[in-house]
Amino acid sequence: MGLFSTGSDGKKVFYKTDDEIEMMRQANLVVSKTLAYVASILKPGITGRTIDEKAEEFIRDHGGRPAFKGYNDFPSSLCVSYNDIVVHGIPSAREFREGDIVSVDCGVELNGYFGDAAFTFAFQDVPEPVMELLRVTYASLYKGLEQAVAGKRVGDISFAIQYYCEREHPYSVVRELVGHGVGRYLHEDPEVPNYGKRGKGPLMQSGLVLAVEPMINLGRKEVFQHEDGWTIHTRDRKPSAHFEHSVAVRKEKPDILSTHEYLLEEIKNNPELKEVLPKN
Ligand code: MG
Ligand code: MG
Repeated sequence: MGLFSTGSDGKKVFYKTDDEIEMMRQANLVVSKTLAYVASILKPGITGRTIDEKAEEFIRDHGGRPAFKGYNDFPSSLCVSYNDIVVHGIPSAREFREGDIVSVDCGVELNGYFGDAAFTFAFQDVPEPVMELLRVTYASLYKGLEQAVAGKRVGDISFAIQYYCEREHPYSVVRELVGHGVGRYLHEDPEVPNYGKRGKGPLMQSGLVLAVEPMINLGRKEVFQHEDGWTIHTRDRKPSAHFEHSVAVRKEKPDILSTHEYLLEEIKNNPELKEVLPKN
């Protein structure tokens, strides 16, 4: 989730204690396991709506509350954004098919703290140029996360993602939507754009927790919002990829609170899905 129709809930930067970060790790564990559960049930013919209903049940069974449901009247537990949908897709009755890519974004509130992560899954027969977009976007997430260290600035994250996607690769960074602080609110300050200048923006100190979420287009950067008030499409209708982790800024190295480890394992076990292996 980002700037387009949401903005920050708490217009303030909140630093977290070690105990709070552990609470957030627990919330993110439910997010990470929910995304893995989604990876285990994705197949051609299944709808976003079905996945959403099952994921909501999974989240509640694990003691969590789906954070997106009811957020500014968003109707569902997951954002399900396929092909040319960048983010904020409302799960629908459309059946997935071979060749689709689908970003699943999950937010969970557990014991008063929020977790937020996303992954773009690829069905079989996704063409190689789109697989490359996914690999590069995935790698750009980690390029950004590497910069989440005390003493650096938010612009260092932004620059790392933009440079990798737009200079080292021929893709476009979406400008209208950004990452964000996360904690007791789903969206806190600061905003974390996926474009920007090195050494600029807010200084990051230990205890800041950010949701870093590159949204990268195969074609041009322009997007538009569907009349449903949520769904964001690429204007040129080419595919877009989205990956997200919640990360705690630390002195030595970033502490990534969500994990894709479980879902990567499920992708391996699901013959309907293609592996999105990180690019070195
Ligand atoms: Mg987010
Ligand atoms: Mg998210």
